Amino acid sequence: MSVLNHAAPSAASFTAAQAPRRSACPGLLRIVAARDGGICRIKLPGGVLSAAQAAAIAEASARYAAGVIEVTNRANLQVRGVRDGQEAALIAALVSVALGPVVPASGGVDAATLSASAALSASAASAASAASAADDVRNVMISPAAGRDPFALYDTTSLAAGLLTLLQSEARFAALSPKFAVLLDGGERLARLDHPHDVWLAATQVHDGVRFVFGLTGCPSMAANVAAVPVARANAFATGASHAGTLAAVLPSQVVQLVRALLLTFLDLAAADATRMRHLLATHSVDAVLQHAQTYVDFPLSRDASLADWHRSAPADAVLRLGAHAQRVVGTWHVGGQPPLGRLDAATLHGLAALARQQGNGTMRMTPWQSVLLPDIATDAVPAVLAGLNTLGLACDPAQPIAHLIACAGSTGCVKSLTDTKADALQLAARLPGGVDVHLSGCPRSCAAAHCAPYTLLAVAPGTYDLYRRGTSADFGECVAHRLTIEQAADMLEQLARSPLDA
Ligand code: SF4
Repeated sequence: MSVLNHAAPSAASFTAAQAPRRSACPGLLRIVAARDGGICRIKLPGGVLSAAQAAAIAEASARYAAGVIEVTNRANLQVRGVRDGQEAALIAALVSVALGPVVPASGGVDAATLSASAALSASAASAASAASAADDVRNVMISPAAGRDPFALYDTTSLAAGLLTLLQSEARFAALSPKFAVLLDGGERLARLDHPHDVWLAATQVHDGVRFVFGLTGCPSMAANVAAVPVARANAFATGASHAGTLAAVLPSQVVQLVRALLLTFLDLAAADATRMRHLLATHSVDAVLQHAQTYVDFPLSRDASLADWHRSAPADAVLRLGAHAQRVVGTWHVGGQPPLGRLDAATLHGLAALARQQGNGTMRMTPWQSVLLPDIATDAVPAVLAGLNTLGLACDPAQPIAHLIACAGSTGCVKSLTDTKADALQLAARLPGGVDVHLSGCPRSCAAAHCAPYTLLAVAPGTYDLYRRGTSADFGECVAHRLTIEQAADMLEQLARSPLDA
């Protein structure tokens, strides 16, 4: 199992009684109601889970919920359809296989306590609340190929583990929003770099080793890969808010201390209702933020103008999540597949666990493209793993249209949805032109995509959508057609894919 799952419980200290967090975001300990039942979100350190954990999730989802498991766009899993009265049992089952936040080794809370805080003594309820807060802040994204990608400049797994321990162990961080997110980019080719993050760091090679450049809000600049325009940046065009860009560089050994300083600075300076770093930057200059952060670190921290034009030297390639690709160690491969629309059932997750045990290293990685990666597959086992993934219904070939579609829960799972986006997406898959990525959203909240997709179908009525094309305008881009059926949308996408404007 990855080092990410080995954060020492004793490192945690939940000393402060935290007020119960008011949030609509699901968590492991905060099951949120939806149209199809409760949603329980399981945060996976680095997207990694063991075969045993996968089997436990599959088992629990079938026993206590509807047996539907989703891979999220932050490389986590969520169990849908949790049945009324079964929440505590589900949580206990998940916590028992170490899927919960890090809790104190002694004097802490066990699985049963965590799952039944409503009936607890004040001190136990406080501990459960602190554990819930610790669960919320476990938002560190790394490449699903971290430690394996032959193009990586740095193996980020240990650094990510250090950040996760930091986030869970310092009581003040419980005040961060459950959406507050950190990106740690090791320079891998398989990297998701189009999500908005509050703090991002990216490895860069210099004459005497590797440094991590960093910035606030957004993601690393990708001059060589401009196809992906993050929502946050697109919004910046509309609001006039400036993207802070690359600020400075630190040694790998300084990364955890730097992130701690930036998060404490956010908590020190941000207004009470500010939840994201961009809110702080609306009232404080970047230099003021760095100046304040300097008080928390013992190395120089100021903006380095020479890095203003820094960009990632290698483009990222999302296609590497599919199929078999050689790892850094010769003779080993990672093999990936896309579950249709990011959904697995319990039997499929059991099947993935068996594949990982029999052919791999007993672990798997969820990816922020809502797909699954099996690492450390020996060369002679690759055909069997590809066949196994295909048998389980996962798309391993980028030519398969279903690998290019994402859709939110839709009307079967969400009261806000104007249509059954999942069913509509499956209908569209039958006619989708090759290589065209489309996002179907039941309302403007865009739950399925933190990025701006090349094309977005935004529901306006059952089975009827407005079509948007990504550009420099805000949110989904430019609206190019109104009130299309799925058939009409397929025709329009075919035309647009052939148009020179789309080149
Ligand atoms: S995007 Fe809208 S309709 Fe879809 S799941 Fe989110 S809130 Fe519901």
